[in-house]
Amino acid sequence: MRERLNVVDCGDLVFNFGDAQDMSDKLQAHTEKLLAAGKKCLTFGGDHFVTLPLLRAHAKHFGKMALVHFDAHTYGNGSKFDHGTMFFHAPNEGLIDPNHSVQIGIRTDHDSDNGFTVLDAAQVNDRGVTDLVDQIKGIVGDLPVYLTFDIDCLDPAFAPGTGTPVVGGLTTD
Ligand code: MN
Repeated sequence: MRERLNVVDCGDLVFNFGDAQDMSDKLQAHTEKLLAAGKKCLTFGGDHFVTLPLLRAHAKHFGKMALVHFDAHTYGNGSKFDHGTMFFHAPNEGLIDPNHSVQIGIRTDHDSDNGFTVLDAAQVNDRGVTDLVDQIKGIVGDLPVYLTFDIDCLDPAFAPGTGTPVVGGLTTD
């Protein structure tokens, strides 16, 4: 990758083990510092718990964003901050605009009233890539985009190493 991209490994984030608030605060602060220095971030979890502090840092820098979210799950509502409620909190905190956000590869029940466009796995597998990309670009519009990818958006046949496998997912093709 380094032949083609100007990238640097910033290392792991050091935080107090078992202290979720500390981890969240440190991740947001560290990300804000990188973004303020004009860098772009490619981050790896953990799980989706990392996404809310990352969205907070990015929204502070870029303003309200569009979300492009590849996943088997849309995740739920709830006041708790955990790995399953970040896309409930993010629109409420004004970090992302649900009307310009799209969730791709979904194959679990989802709330159809929250404004997100859902492209479920069945239709993704039936439609062509160009057709899908055109629709995604239309939904995103001119907003800055935050892209997040959960490995379980792929079918477990291609990526079985996930805590929450769901059959009928996207192919690697
Ligand atoms: Mn998932």
